[in-house]
Amino acid sequence: MDSAEFRNRGKEMVDYISDYMDTIGQRRVTPAIEPGYLRERLPEDPPMYPEDWDEIMDDVEQHIMPGVTHWQHPRFHAYFPSGNSYPSIMADMLSDAIGSNGFSWAASPVYTELETIVMDWLGRMVGLPKEFLPFTENGKGGGVIQGSASECILVSLLAARQATIRELKRQHPFVEEGVLLSKLMAYCSKEAHSSVEKAAMIAFVKIRILETDDKYALRGSKLAKAIQEDRSMGLIPFFVSSTLGTTSCCSFDPLTEIGPICKEENVWLHVDAAYAGNAFICPQFRYLMKGIEYATSFNFNPNKWMLVNFDCSTMWVTDRFKLTEALIVDPLYLKHSHSDRAIDYRHWGIPLSRRFRSLKLWFVIRSYGVEGLRRYILEHCRLAKRLEALIKLDSRFEIMNQVTLGLVCFRLHGNNTLNEKFLSSINASGKLHMVPASLNERYVIRFCVCSQTATDDDIDHAWHVITQMATDILQLMVK
Ligand code: PLP
Repeated sequence: MDSAEFRNRGKEMVDYISDYMDTIGQRRVTPAIEPGYLRERLPEDPPMYPEDWDEIMDDVEQHIMPGVTHWQHPRFHAYFPSGNSYPSIMADMLSDAIGSNGFSWAASPVYTELETIVMDWLGRMVGLPKEFLPFTENGKGGGVIQGSASECILVSLLAARQATIRELKRQHPFVEEGVLLSKLMAYCSKEAHSSVEKAAMIAFVKIRILETDDKYALRGSKLAKAIQEDRSMGLIPFFVSSTLGTTSCCSFDPLTEIGPICKEENVWLHVDAAYAGNAFICPQFRYLMKGIEYATSFNFNPNKWMLVNFDCSTMWVTDRFKLTEALIVDPLYLKHSHSDRAIDYRHWGIPLSRRFRSLKLWFVIRSYGVEGLRRYILEHCRLAKRLEALIKLDSRFEIMNQVTLGLVCFRLHGNNTLNEKFLSSINASGKLHMVPASLNERYVIRFCVCSQTATDDDIDHAWHVITQMATDILQLMVK
């Protein structure tokens, strides 16, 4: 394809995308297909010769779209939102066209320069303490964009591990690193995302997964007790991952309790706010991050709830040198003449290659303004409250979480099997899509406000589908 054809086909693609967005509500939210559906439809071998663009696009509509779960659909209420907006799509188009690789400052300077600027903007937008924002404050901290929250958690844990082992090595120079490693203990609550357990698995350290209170929060007393028990057995607590906005029910660990313990015990405190962190751009939600000044690292995903397309997971640390010490490998072919003065983001994460992810953050923040983004978040929260109020009026249901942001957890009075059947019949109908979670062994249904343009009508429609399905399933149980 040359630029002349791209000019035409590109415009057609923009039309296709705009039509897709405008008519998405007419599609089934979940696909009605079985595993392996695509293999039956596509040829076994790749084409030997170029194919016509029209034929390729026909196949998109005929074979690809039927296998899509439409996360931007107004009836999609599963997981958390998947950020999306036209400014963000356009930034990714431009970034794909530029097609450079920003692993170091020298590799494509503006990639790094813009990333440091938008990370400072964003850090200030969510009210992070100045220790996290040193690019402007001349401190030790700093922000970086990673591909996912899982990566943010993993690199934080690796940095904490490295800092602890280094200190232990200084105290016990003749003890093998492997022996020291076997003593390290990390902590999180049972409501923390599974990526914390995975990070510990990758880093080859032990992890204790602690019980929560009746609000699904990790309490300071629980953590303090676990740390004392482990110390008395000769283990070395080194890392706590707390969560603001858990995946299952959007509960919040109290940083004001956990933080002082981590400080006292000299333990790295990571704060994972993958979804809820976006809400902190609204000052009225900042009370949920009280105690953030105790954190050593913090992450949230604008690609969840700030209209930025995947991938864009932002993290900050109070000491960037601790992060890079764990990750620096510096071969000659990657050195450059500004290495001592410039940020080289390849030392802040796992992959070498880096996309121009800051561009979409910059486009989105400028296009909506902080005010516009706040309005979007607040509207989702208002809509979640609307659904909560409807559920509370119907005695067949119970609310299972504290509805603070855009997530409502509920269930039918009755056992887990009833609720499982209830949710699978809703999902099978293709009229609405939600996913379950387990809270203290109880099967609950998660409803998240996801669509960028969600309205009262969407909530009322969802409630209509939920109540109709409830009536049907409860009648079936009586028969
Ligand atoms: N942490 C929390 C609280 C989450 O809800 C999620 C995913 O929903 C993750 C971490 C993992 O996010 P990612 O897919 O960006 O790794």
